Amino acid sequence: MTLSRMKRILLKLSGEVLMGPGQYGIDPETCDRVAQEVKQAKDSGLEICMVVGGGNIFRGLAGAAQGFDRASADYMGMLATVMNALAMQNALEKIGVQTRVQSAIPMASVCEPYIRRRAERHMEKGRVVLFAAGTGLPFFTTDTTAALRAAEMNCDALFKGTSVDGVYDADPKKVPTAERYETLSFDRVLADNLRVMDASAVALCRDNNIPIVVFNIREVGNLVAVLNGEGVSTIVQ
Ligand code: UDP
Repeated sequence: MTLSRMKRILLKLSGEVLMGPGQYGIDPETCDRVAQEVKQAKDSGLEICMVVGGGNIFRGLAGAAQGFDRASADYMGMLATVMNALAMQNALEKIGVQTRVQSAIPMASVCEPYIRRRAERHMEKGRVVLFAAGTGLPFFTTDTTAALRAAEMNCDALFKGTSVDGVYDADPKKVPTAERYETLSFDRVLADNLRVMDASAVALCRDNNIPIVVFNIREVGNLVAVLNGEGVSTIVQ
């Protein structure tokens, strides 16, 4: 993968990134900081669309463990991603980046519904499109959403901005000698059940030839560094 030849990318932000230093919810300063980095990346000529998770507010699995019906809990999780998308939209527009939020669950008075061809047009016009409400279907995740939208929007790569700086051969929090992979094949990720993204997301990227770049977006400046091929990451391709 040649990063310098990329024209269009999808950036997936896990919800927990937006918590910033907190334990729950949305940290406005973190949204502003991430927005600045997205702006910088966009100013370098990239077309960017985004999928934002919802784990900082509500996860379906956690809700189900507390006794909620799983499908209902998943809908609650999807609604959480809409809140995050609106927060990121706000942060981006404050600094002059034009955006549109498109939700997989139509909510006409809040944002646009997801319409692929319309999203395409927004991106051609230089807008950042934020895809909210996941796939609109329970029992899925925003990782799968990110892979799906990346394929639909013909993205050159999927950048997964998370709280770890790549994929390790063991949990680095538990195993001090754990080593980070520089690159990995899709098949290896699936065969070894490495925790990059869910298997369905990885398979979707593999089948559509979309490399996944896993990097730590909590580290200031890392998005642009990774895009320039300088930051720390693991590339799955
Ligand atoms: N979700 C869903 N279908 C989707 C995407 C998300 O049901 O297509 C729900 C699911 O309950 C999930 C929650 O939304 O737990 C938040 O998304 P996710 O856990 O993927 O967020 P992240 O871990 O990236 O913060």
